[in-house]
Amino acid sequence: MEGIPLNLNYKVPIKGYEKFWESLKEGQVWGTSCTKCGEKYFPPQLHCSKCGASTTWFKVSEEGELLTYSIVKAKPQGFEGYEDYTIALVRTKEVDLMCWLSGEPRVGAQVRIGADGKRVTCLIK
Ligand SMILES: [Zn+2]
Repeated sequence: MEGIPLNLNYKVPIKGYEKFWESLKEGQVWGTSCTKCGEKYFPPQLHCSKCGASTTWFKVSEEGELLTYSIVKAKPQGFEGYEDYTIALVRTKEVDLMCWLSGEPRVGAQVRIGADGKRVTCLIK
């Protein structure tokens, strides 16, 4: 048995999140922080889950630490044409985030965070 076809249709919110999508095109990663309690969000949220106040944008640090990673060999629909790739969980001073990792993964390694236009990337230093 090869598997069961699975069709997923995601709707990615854009209205209000233009800053995030535009920043990826500039190689940057932006999150949001609550204007009242200061909670930080990545992926960005327009309103705080803790207190309901609005949020404001901040640029996520370009430096982080690799917490863990996963090498994807069985690709999801839409990624069948990719070589095996590595998704990492990285801690910055503001938020934890997931990124496409380049380089030999090593837990605890320092990484440089950026974006390739469509997604968050990180590179082992
Ligand atoms: Zn808040």
